[in-house]
Amino acid sequence: PLVLGIETSCDETGIGIVRGRQLLSNTIASSMDEHARYGGVVPEVAARAHLEALQPSIDTALAEAGVTLADLDAVAVTSGPGLAGALMVGVGAAKGLAVALDKPLYAVNHLVGHIAADILDADAGELEYPTVALLVSGGHTSLLLVRDLTSDVELLGETMDDAAGEAFDKVARLLKLPYPGGPEIDRAAADGDPTAIRFPRGLSRASDMASHRYDFSFSGLKTAVARWVEQHEAAGQPVPVADVAASFREAVVDVLVTKALDACARHGVPRLLLGGGVIANKRLRDVALERAAAAGVAVRIPPLRLCTDNGAMIAALAAELISSGRRPSTLAFGADSTLPVTEIQVAEDADA
Ligand code: ATP
Ligand code: MG
Ligand code: FE
Repeated sequence: PLVLGIETSCDETGIGIVRGRQLLSNTIASSMDEHARYGGVVPEVAARAHLEALQPSIDTALAEAGVTLADLDAVAVTSGPGLAGALMVGVGAAKGLAVALDKPLYAVNHLVGHIAADILDADAGELEYPTVALLVSGGHTSLLLVRDLTSDVELLGETMDDAAGEAFDKVARLLKLPYPGGPEIDRAAADGDPTAIRFPRGLSRASDMASHRYDFSFSGLKTAVARWVEQHEAAGQPVPVADVAASFREAVVDVLVTKALDACARHGVPRLLLGGGVIANKRLRDVALERAAAAGVAVRIPPLRLCTDNGAMIAALAAELISSGRRPSTLAFGADSTLPVTEIQVAEDADA
């Protein structure tokens, strides 16, 4: 099916068009620059930016794909989780479009969309089940067990406080580096010693994972970095930014990879899928690939443009739902900022 997907859960206005598993276009407009001076995403600013970017992005995506609105088989949209005001803009637009065109509408889960990004990777071969999925971004840190993308996604753990990307952003601010912090910490860490400072690895002792829970906590790590920096400044010593950045990054990477591989072992799943904007971190990819290889776990990493928020992954998920016989959503859904990952599709119409 030919599907247009709309994604507005955070600061990216993403419009993607797919034909089944084939990616036709993927237009991404980001309001990141507008948030930079606030040091984080400002919800009202994001929502207004979505309103402005939506129509031109849809036009661009259609032109790139070489199709018209009339050609579409369905419209798909992110219902949640995400920023309520930002989500509402996409949901409103998708409903309007579906009603005006008289096309079926699929309201889907953003996190499951991140997994669906993988099936658009033409070079990767078929996605095999079950697979463990680690999603790491500015708003999420989730470990999932995926038995079927369209019907069975189980939450193994999520962050109790800061998301991994958020931790990068906050530590960058501590080190007086600009927003977004991920790439800045990466750059600074390049000249640093990752073993210089032993920062805490939250919730990653064997006993923390023994109860089959894989929750994450990064606020203790952030506080540890803050305290370390404060003590050095109070003592009049220069802060070795490169070493702090490298040691912090190593702590985050260690926790993420340790838990993901422990979950693979525990559930007897030799497959790990990575997604979310923090996958841009090369150290994370390298450590994951290296330790997974040693553990006999195959790793899949979609191209980075499909890892960060985008509309193509939303369209891809809807296309899979359609192919597996799922009915469209009714219009009785809204933006759900805390939509659980187990709700892959929202408001499927029982009588359609
Ligand atoms: P969502 O949580 O809904 O996916 P988001 O916009 O916050 O939304 P992404 O756009 O997927 O998430 O990713 C942005 C985050 O990724 C930011 O927190 C940023 O600091 C982080 N990030 C980007 N590049 C890197 C990097 N090289 N290393 C670590 N973190 C990075
Ligand atoms: Mg973003
Ligand atoms: Fe996301």
